[in-house]
Amino acid sequence: MKTTFRLIRAVAVLLFALAPSLDAQSRPTADLIIRNARIWTVDKNHPTAQAVAVLRDRIVAVGSNDEIGAWRGAQTRVIDAAGKLLLPGFNDAHVHFVDGGLALDRVQLNDASSAEEFARRIAERTKATPKAEWVTGGDWDETKWNPARMPSKELIDPATPDTPVFVSRYDGHMALANSVTLRLAGITAKTPDPPGGVIVRDEQGNPTGALKDAAMDYVDKVQPPLSHDQRLKAVKRALAHAAALGVTSVQHMNPEYADIAVYQELLQGGELTARIYAAPLIPNVDDQVKIGVRHAFGSPFLRIGALKAYADGSLGSATAYFFAPFTNQPDNRGLLSDEMQPVSLMQDRMMRADAAGLQICTHAIGDQGISIILDLYNEIVKAHGESDRRFRIEHAQHMAAKDFDRFAQLHVIASVQPYHAIDDGRWAEERIGHDRASRTYAFRTFLDRGVRLALGTDWNVAPLNPMLTVYAAVTRATLDGKNPGGWFPEQKLTVPETVEAYTLGSAYAEFQESEKGSISPGKLADMVLLDGDIFTISPAKIRDVKVMKTIVGGKVVWDAANAEVH
Ligand SMILES: [Zn+2]
Repeated sequence: MKTTFRLIRAVAVLLFALAPSLDAQSRPTADLIIRNARIWTVDKNHPTAQAVAVLRDRIVAVGSNDEIGAWRGAQTRVIDAAGKLLLPGFNDAHVHFVDGGLALDRVQLNDASSAEEFARRIAERTKATPKAEWVTGGDWDETKWNPARMPSKELIDPATPDTPVFVSRYDGHMALANSVTLRLAGITAKTPDPPGGVIVRDEQGNPTGALKDAAMDYVDKVQPPLSHDQRLKAVKRALAHAAALGVTSVQHMNPEYADIAVYQELLQGGELTARIYAAPLIPNVDDQVKIGVRHAFGSPFLRIGALKAYADGSLGSATAYFFAPFTNQPDNRGLLSDEMQPVSLMQDRMMRADAAGLQICTHAIGDQGISIILDLYNEIVKAHGESDRRFRIEHAQHMAAKDFDRFAQLHVIASVQPYHAIDDGRWAEERIGHDRASRTYAFRTFLDRGVRLALGTDWNVAPLNPMLTVYAAVTRATLDGKNPGGWFPEQKLTVPETVEAYTLGSAYAEFQESEKGSISPGKLADMVLLDGDIFTISPAKIRDVKVMKTIVGGKVVWDAANAEVH
């Protein structure tokens, strides 16, 4: 007995002495620990925590400071979050990433408050623009001017005698050309309006410089194409912007193939700091069918296998397709897109896409546009049987009452952009009336009917900043300040619902919910540390919350403490 006891004691002492190294051998130490955080995990089993451990690009443990302390080693980088809020990184389910990057470097006209300010900014930019280069972009919005009026070339011609100017309205459905550009494009009083477009004219029939929809193609044809370097620069700008805003994943709608090539180049160089899912346009469906990729094909950083389709236009340009006419335009109920002329053309492409296992994301805004797409999705299920295909409707703005349940039955994801609600909410009711507006941006109804939401911004149509989107979803306070209690407040989401839709919901919409979207062991270490607690501050203050750190795959890609002000 005594000997046995001694032996046991000796083994115990030996084990005790070896414990640290044994432990080190049996379990590696973390590369990164974030402690003292208020963690909202978006993991239903463990909604909150204090600390998280990261090994290489994955989360390995989530728990209390003490539990996670066990993962600490000599090489572990430790971030003390000082009680700040840590969330899964935001996943923007609908962006135009290269356009966004380009817009960051272009003249900013969106917040100009008068025609004079609009003209002054264009004049300033023209002075700083090298000879032969164009002044483009802008995203102007004449409804924000006091007084509001449609701009014409006379406003900008004096300061731009040699520089081509072609600045677009924020909705992308109109642009203003100066006289240099009209000359280059060959647009005169004699030029006819193209099908689907309007050359705006003065009383004498002369072009004012404003071009609508297909009339903009005249200018697009004479604009120099984007060079590889311009595209690369735009993507780098966009990535830096996303990192600074806590956006760790983006779903790029209608990229050009050259954009995907740039992503691949950056990925190889280790410079891709956001994860990208790219959905090229459906008229090119056969490209992806031919190479045999299916949905979400690729690596955690870059995936393809989705298609973006267009059912109709937009509310702002009165081209969204409705069952009934616009309230303020009794002869107009909108337009189906050229991809839907005829609808069988779209059906054929969707059938080929689905048969190949590609995911379909369809832009549909008006109630009838949405209804027709649901019909098409239903036809696909009938033809090919049930499967986990995750159909999406992008924007899903104005639903017919009968269609909410069809979203649920067909498992269609509503990929929505709450910022549009507080922007369009300023004037939507004038155009579609109270009844239809009550089923507009109906995020609450979607959740109540069991429809999955994915959240995004449509950047650069709206700002990329997730705090503005959370603010919009939670307050529904229109930008004009006229609905402080919320525009159709019954459709407000709570902060937890919004965060979940913007992380796990968007991840689900790209077949990545087991890889990201929550702070859970085994998932990719994509996280964002905020300087304000959006769960407890007054909702009106959410839009002012800033990002302190953004972490993608365990690497800090944005740190406000080291950031240069720009
Ligand atoms: Zn879009």
